[in-house]
Amino acid sequence: QAVTTTREITTTTECPYCSVQCTMNLHEEKSIMVSRFSVSANKEDPVTDGRLCVKGLNAHSHAIDDRRLRNPMIRIKGKLSNVSWEAAMERFRIQVQALQTKYGKDSVGVYGGGSLTNEECYLLGKFARVALQTKYIDYNGRFCMSAAAGAANLTFGVDRGLTNPLEEVPFAKCIILAGTNIAECQPTIMAYFRKARQNGCKIIVIDPRETATCSIADLHLKVKPGYDAALVNGMIKVIIEEGFVDQSFIEQRTNGYDELVEHVKQVSLSEVAALTGIPPQQIVEAARMYGEAETGMVFTARGVEQHASGVANVRNFLNMVLLTGKIGKQGCGYGAITGQANGQGGREHGQKADQLPGYRLIENLEHRAYMAKVWGVNEEDLPRKGISAYEMMEAIDRKEIKCLIVLGSNPVVSNPNSHMVEKALKKLEFLVVIDLFESETARLAHMVLPGSAYLEDEGTMTQLEGRVLVRRALKALPGKAKLDWKIVCEMAAVLDKGAYFNYQNAEEIFNELRLASKGGKADYFGMTYASLEAQHGMFWPCPEEGHPGTPRMFEKQFDHEDGRARLAPIEHQNPKEVANRKYPYILTTGRVLQHYLSGVQTRNTSELNSKYPEPLLEIHPDSAGIIGLVNGGHAKVSSKRGTIRLKVKFSQKIRPDTVFVAFHWGDDFCINRLTNPALDPTCRMPEFKVCAVQINPA
Ligand code: SF4
Repeated sequence: QAVTTTREITTTTECPYCSVQCTMNLHEEKSIMVSRFSVSANKEDPVTDGRLCVKGLNAHSHAIDDRRLRNPMIRIKGKLSNVSWEAAMERFRIQVQALQTKYGKDSVGVYGGGSLTNEECYLLGKFARVALQTKYIDYNGRFCMSAAAGAANLTFGVDRGLTNPLEEVPFAKCIILAGTNIAECQPTIMAYFRKARQNGCKIIVIDPRETATCSIADLHLKVKPGYDAALVNGMIKVIIEEGFVDQSFIEQRTNGYDELVEHVKQVSLSEVAALTGIPPQQIVEAARMYGEAETGMVFTARGVEQHASGVANVRNFLNMVLLTGKIGKQGCGYGAITGQANGQGGREHGQKADQLPGYRLIENLEHRAYMAKVWGVNEEDLPRKGISAYEMMEAIDRKEIKCLIVLGSNPVVSNPNSHMVEKALKKLEFLVVIDLFESETARLAHMVLPGSAYLEDEGTMTQLEGRVLVRRALKALPGKAKLDWKIVCEMAAVLDKGAYFNYQNAEEIFNELRLASKGGKADYFGMTYASLEAQHGMFWPCPEEGHPGTPRMFEKQFDHEDGRARLAPIEHQNPKEVANRKYPYILTTGRVLQHYLSGVQTRNTSELNSKYPEPLLEIHPDSAGIIGLVNGGHAKVSSKRGTIRLKVKFSQKIRPDTVFVAFHWGDDFCINRLTNPALDPTCRMPEFKVCAVQINPA
């Protein structure tokens, strides 16, 4: 019977995973009894030209998985039990009101995510400031983009991930890819770099490992983890001394040149070589390649950014960009390759402890007054600046925060020093988690609410170029699951703030977001759902309707008040932990092709999980030989903060003093039990990329 009533529906959506946001065709074979989904690449996608990686090809699986949460749950006698939405919301009201009455507004915190839609990010910030009136809100993007954002703000006056659209990559004659493994993390954009190479571009990869991205490299600098700023100081010295500086650009568009020149006079290439492990001739070669090239682009990612000196590291790369005048023109620019789906939008609309929507600052009186007006509240009622994601975990551990509401994040797996984080979350009097699956964090919660997957949710995402895309809802929610934004609105309503959260659909939230961002640095005011759909997305800033958006930034001026960019001398700083007799190896962490972030979605996708079911300890065979490890055997890896047991994988491609482990797993496979929570002084990024470890056979 079912066969005769089958019909096929094909619609277009976007991958929920990385920041490229590849579009895809979703096919639904629908009968009375059952719906079957599959995906194929969308040949019409102007960014990816019909490419999808293995994650995208399987992205629908988790959304239709039987393990999805379908009911609100409350912990009763130690066990999470299904309850009605009414009962869950009543419990939420009672708990939050009781805690805020007893301990004050700031006893409740909110923890968001960089994979949420712009509308959800905006709403979560508003929920914290207007409904809860707490200063405690931050999100997992603190671990993703905060260092690059901090550096771009200081240097350019504004932070947009890529200053130029990807279509300009093939016009670059030299490209530096520093701490970014795009071949595994954003595979569908590799084509742009291959095209550049066909056009004669030289590509320099800076990475402690010979990653898959090195297949396109002309020069691979296998830098010691934590020494990027030192390496760049060496390159800058060569650029200045060999006359690759664009003097007219320096004079017309920058400040701080003389101080930088003075600073690098003291840099010695032999000292840089000793620190970084890169021979002086390779430093010179790299500097000449970039300096001589007529056009050039620099891209960084977490390898450079996830350090206690992350902002300084990125600033030094930006120094190099400015010195050579390679910005604001075709094929000349900088890009921070975002990891999360909405890593860009996630940091623009008020989820950060110090920010209001549109990159407005919560401590700026004018900005506060503007947002108070948009939201219809008193400026004095808006909370002040809070603290960063990991610092919130410390505040929870100190019992200063009694209740945490988590949406779109799995902090137990993604925070550094995660043993402490788990211990801290267990101290909460009320932990609420909104998610798709029973994540490691949800398992600790007092209340778990079933949220929405990308196929069910409507809203906009801002991908790595700064291009805003609309995603439409394509399937019904499972069971009693609700749209994430509706859950936030319902939570606000039971706290008697429903009048501020009265939306019929995501587009209404977007229209309020447009107004909230108007006149801010990330200005979306000129975009509408209709214009975004008509043009396959638009680039911010887009200040008024009819404005074409801004694909290329900084053509004429930077975003500081005087229109000039800032050069800054950067002192290299050693990582907070260095190898020593007890912990003789450096652990660095990162991603693999098959998984996304803390793995909640991809570990619940059998096609992906079966290909990479557990983290591996990647180690050079020479080091493994000294320790007595066997390829495929097991090792115990310990830092000052914890120990985990991992399967060993020999690799000639990693430095002998360094080991690598991916971070997508929780519990006994959680590598963040070992990582160092030392924070960058400016952006509060933890030092995920360097910690000292001891390794023993297990
Ligand atoms: Fe595209 Fe990234 Fe999804 Fe792969 S994971 S299909 S590169 S958006």
